[in-house]
Amino acid sequence: MTAVQDADQHAGAHHVDGAHARSTLAPNYHPLPVTVASGEGSWVTDTDGRRYLDLLSAYSALNFGHRHPALVAAAHAQLDRLTLTSRAFDHDLLHPFADRLAALVGPLVAGEPMVLPMNTGAEAVETAIKAARKWGYDVKGVPDGQARIVVVDGNFHGRTTTIVSFSSDPEARDGFGPYTPGFVRVPYGDAAALAAALDERTVAVLLEPVQGEQGVVVPPPDYLPAVRAACTAADVLLVADEIQSGLGRTGTTLACEVWGVRPDLVTLGKALGGGVVPVSAVVGRADVLGVLTAGTHGSTFGGNPLACAVGLAVVDLLESGEPQARARELGTWMGGRLDALVRDGLLARVRRIGLWAGLDVQPGLPGGPTSGRDLCERLLARGVLAKDTHGSTIRIAPPLTITQDDLDLALDHLTDALRGTTA
Ligand SMILES: *Cc1c(COP(=O)(O)O)cnc(C)c1O
Repeated sequence: MTAVQDADQHAGAHHVDGAHARSTLAPNYHPLPVTVASGEGSWVTDTDGRRYLDLLSAYSALNFGHRHPALVAAAHAQLDRLTLTSRAFDHDLLHPFADRLAALVGPLVAGEPMVLPMNTGAEAVETAIKAARKWGYDVKGVPDGQARIVVVDGNFHGRTTTIVSFSSDPEARDGFGPYTPGFVRVPYGDAAALAAALDERTVAVLLEPVQGEQGVVVPPPDYLPAVRAACTAADVLLVADEIQSGLGRTGTTLACEVWGVRPDLVTLGKALGGGVVPVSAVVGRADVLGVLTAGTHGSTFGGNPLACAVGLAVVDLLESGEPQARARELGTWMGGRLDALVRDGLLARVRRIGLWAGLDVQPGLPGGPTSGRDLCERLLARGVLAKDTHGSTIRIAPPLTITQDDLDLALDHLTDALRGTTA
């Protein structure tokens, strides 16, 4: 059997597995019924040769599209040279990656910037939590074991036991106790409630400037500036989780820039790995990250050579300002088309910032979708990939590299799917 036939057989086998209840794959996801075999730019092709426009972009991990030539070239070149050292030894891209990421993001955070590389988003959030707590004890003078972190309703920061401990989503949290103490949750978008929750034991406020998993929830214009002021007044760190909102999606390098707010720490992930490898980092105040001295925190793969090579190529793309500009321009245009769907009664609501939108389906629309999942299945049948969240919402986050014609085509399919026109 040739390698190609072998691959076909495997692909076929996976297809069959997906359609049957018995599988060796743990059931912690309920994917749409499509098995992707290849991707290029904004398009993927399934195992039957059908093509689809990808409007999810792996939750913004594919901000630069599938297999962006510069990112794939950087990965190929690095694979032929050095892939892993562990942090027991430095390698020649580790400091350049930190320097370049600090140069890109440093001016957008408070104070002198430092970079701590990790792998996944959840690890970056855990790192920020640990740094904030240790800063609280070592610098702020919080009594040992009493540090508190204020979070908001509807948050999504990852899936570790500590992070799900402060989730307000029963599906994410229930059944995973005992829960990590030390977190206080307040309503999102209410700066007064947040300010009232800060006290001498509070070390940090942790929030997403725009709540992605919650359905692209954009805060009122005065919210983040007021949160920043409250944190500064109470000597509390503002930690912005920009794993999904950061690196171009909102039309700026960080979402926080939209409101002119500089967080003390920012978590980055997803797009930082260019859709090639998992790369995450905490970027922020050197006097805070500096408390994590040798031996107090680490990761075998964090900052590995392959990750740094791809991460450096991602920084190159963002330094040009082009992805951010495209997100602004295409986003404004997409917003016009989506607003028209609301005016025509085909959607209940649209929330949008940059090239990122949450759409709420219109209940009771004749021939219309009955749920976010139903809408995603209708889109799938038309060759468009999107993902539902929280029942009646779908999220649109195309690659920032998508052409206007492709986005136009996808929005035509969305319109037809909402109208219930036969595919
Ligand atoms: C995806 C996401 C995470 C978790 O990232 P993983 O790489 O899946 O661990 C954390 N925070 C936000 C805002 C995210 O969107």
